[in-house]
Amino acid sequence: MAEDLIDVATARARVLAEARPLAPERVELAEALGRVLAEDIASDLDLPPFDASAMDGFATRAGPPEELEVVGESRAGHPAARALAPGEAIRISTGAVVPDGAEAVVAVERTETASHGGGQGARERVSVPARGDGDHVRRAGEDVRGGETVMSAGVRLGPAEVAVLASLGRAEVECGPRPRMAVLVTGDELVEPGTALGPGQIRDANVYALAAQAERAGGRIVGRALVRDELEATVAALGEAIELADVVCVSGGVSVGPHDHVKPALERLGVRERFWGVALKPGKPTWFGVHGSTLVFGLPGNPVSAMVTFHLFARLALEHLAGVVEAPRERAVARLEGSLPRESRRDQAIRCRLETRPDGWHAWPTGSQGSHILTSMLGADALALVPAGEGELAAGERVELELLR
Ligand code: AMP
Ligand code: MG
Repeated sequence: MAEDLIDVATARARVLAEARPLAPERVELAEALGRVLAEDIASDLDLPPFDASAMDGFATRAGPPEELEVVGESRAGHPAARALAPGEAIRISTGAVVPDGAEAVVAVERTETASHGGGQGARERVSVPARGDGDHVRRAGEDVRGGETVMSAGVRLGPAEVAVLASLGRAEVECGPRPRMAVLVTGDELVEPGTALGPGQIRDANVYALAAQAERAGGRIVGRALVRDELEATVAALGEAIELADVVCVSGGVSVGPHDHVKPALERLGVRERFWGVALKPGKPTWFGVHGSTLVFGLPGNPVSAMVTFHLFARLALEHLAGVVEAPRERAVARLEGSLPRESRRDQAIRCRLETRPDGWHAWPTGSQGSHILTSMLGADALALVPAGEGELAAGERVELELLR
């Protein structure tokens, strides 16, 4: 295996080559957070839709200080009944329509009002300072122009995108579906949390790790199973998962030991291999193949390796099936705190905690980096990708990061 390891970038390219976006679906806006937009969004209106006041005060013509007659009111949602003529002011609230004929808004704090007469015939007058054309007026279309494309297919909808869609009046949007994901773990030693440990047993961490990562990446879990180290059971569980899911992740049992049945099972099921073995530490024994439109990842059993390879490869698949166009790789650069030995033939994914300093990000490895040290994932903000090479990576050198979320 050592001879034909492929590098991380080549492995990712092979995943991308197979991950075609799934057919989009209409999603209610209130359900759209985290979905991937599958249409370009062009606005069919100006935003704001009308010239609006930025202040509570009075709408007036532009001009020198003067006293004006207050002839009406424009409240948010209730425009004034009539247009403004010279010598007049219309009381106005923030967000209310600037009446026809008005050119400026004067803040209420800068005015003085006085009532004249009483009863039915009472008249209100207001003294205003000098104001220029457009003062405190939010022009129609200042935010968005009618016809303008505001968002493009392929973006992940966050709170800001959802808010803009709401202001454009979109109650529903076309989105990529949440890819269906099945998680299988293999191992006779594994027991569920909540079960007492017998001799030689450990608790299964990977179903929980991989399902959680998949949900974070926008996937929907449609199956989870703990499979014994037995060929027929592995074939049956994988066959069922491939039927159910767009992406199958199976952890453990992928190597070539006498009790590793994942590869023979995948072969039996006709899953076509796209790569086997990545020049990566942790994560060398990683397998990827396709069955019809289902993508299958055979991930290492060690929990850290499983999580790292999920993050670097399976997450990419989920994002692209959901329709992400250029996945934000969340790449950044940090200064390494402490030196690290390089691996001559493999890139390393070092779990790091990040801290911002005046000169940018600094990365602290989270202690022992063994692939069985699951607690090295605790508090890790990023994977620092250290390229293969000789000698050591000295403290203070720059490392490329892939942020964990
Ligand atoms: P394997 O790839 O099956 O040889 O497993 C490699 C190592 O990962 C062994 O020490 C396993 O006990 C451990 N391992 C495999 N699967 C899991 C799991 N689901 N949760 C925790 N540890 C696991
Ligand atoms: Mg095993």
